[in-house]
Amino acid sequence: MRDELSRRAMLGLGAAALLSTRGGAQPGDGVGFAVVGLGKLSQGQILPAFRTCRSARLAALVSGHPEKAHRLAAEQKLPESAVYSYERFDRIAADPRIEAVYIVLPNFLHADYTIRALKAGKHVLCEKPMATSVADAERMVAAAKAANRKLMIAYRCQYEPLNLYGMRLMRRGALGRPRLVVTNMGRQSDLADPSDAWRLDMRMSGGGALADMGIYGINGARYLLNEEPVAVRAWAQTARRDPRFRSVEDLIAWEFRFPSGAISTGTTSFDQAGTMAWEVYGTRGKMVADPGCFYGGNRLAVSAGPGDGQPKIAEVDQFAREMDWMGDIVRGRAPMVSPGEEGLQDMRLIRAILESVARGGATVPTDFGYRRAVDPAKAVRA
Ligand code: NDP
Repeated sequence: MRDELSRRAMLGLGAAALLSTRGGAQPGDGVGFAVVGLGKLSQGQILPAFRTCRSARLAALVSGHPEKAHRLAAEQKLPESAVYSYERFDRIAADPRIEAVYIVLPNFLHADYTIRALKAGKHVLCEKPMATSVADAERMVAAAKAANRKLMIAYRCQYEPLNLYGMRLMRRGALGRPRLVVTNMGRQSDLADPSDAWRLDMRMSGGGALADMGIYGINGARYLLNEEPVAVRAWAQTARRDPRFRSVEDLIAWEFRFPSGAISTGTTSFDQAGTMAWEVYGTRGKMVADPGCFYGGNRLAVSAGPGDGQPKIAEVDQFAREMDWMGDIVRGRAPMVSPGEEGLQDMRLIRAILESVARGGATVPTDFGYRRAVDPAKAVRA
């Protein structure tokens, strides 16, 4: 109890909040979510995840395909009145069942629907990348402030036990002084898959593999090192005659320099065998997470003297966990860990990487003045 009280004090949550929530969420207390966009992620991960949520519950579906939406609503035991089209979206303002909106649309639609949801008085959980441009991301952050509503970006790895374990080893200095973080995030892509077609279009995705998967490496290096890069250099290797890469780069490699002296190299591609892996090398030890950012089956190998081995780390439903976290934020039981500003920082870094690519690997400064307000390693329980 004392530990919990000091943790809460550190997070700025009062003892009253603790007392009112001991034992976790009460049945029926879950924050009602509208899920916007019923594609692969919503159907494969998000809708099923509500079954195990404590602080979030499914309240509505928003879709451009009424038949699909009504079928899924029936499966989820939602009334017909809980299905919205995009045209009727703004009417959610008058629906008290909906307290939060989960934006699971192609990237180019995130800003518009986030801002409309905020204007409707709802809190927003928005998928990564939060937008396709820095300007849109800034508009989203400003809209959340103006509406006095929460905007959380769905960085599931910041809530995932293996990544949290890695962060905590780093915070304890278990590897010595951090020198190098290596990230590689990529897979094969297929223009014939509608879910990939928009990802391979610069206007709709904001950056191909970089915006879709490379972002995990950018974000990962930042949360593992718990600092922000001051400069980046980047290169791309893109076969323009491959119809997949007419408007987006394929293989991009970048190198971030951090104030501590650490370096992070990252690579991403939509024409490689699938992986989401990261490695950290310190002066006294190393750790390898391969895979490190999948939905499940992640593995960590640590070589750090007494900490050697492959720690057994419990798996969780990462989507249930982040929806519960958002629910807890709305109920005043948890601090905001991955706010709009955190997504905006990655948008600025993506822009810097693409600028460096366009300038043949020139060094681009990246000290945008952002500092993480809440460290997931301290705030989120593994
Ligand atoms: P899909 O293409 O599979 O689904 C997107 C859905 O958005 C469509 O099915 C459609 O739903 C709706 N939509 C509305 N307008 C359009 C349009 N013009 N073109 C295409 N679809 C449209 O994408 P994903 O589900 O894979 O990805 C959605 C978001 O989730 C992306 O931002 C992505 O980056 C993110 N994501 C995050 C992951 C994570 O691990 N955090 C993993 C995978 C994706 P409807 O028919 O209902 O209107």
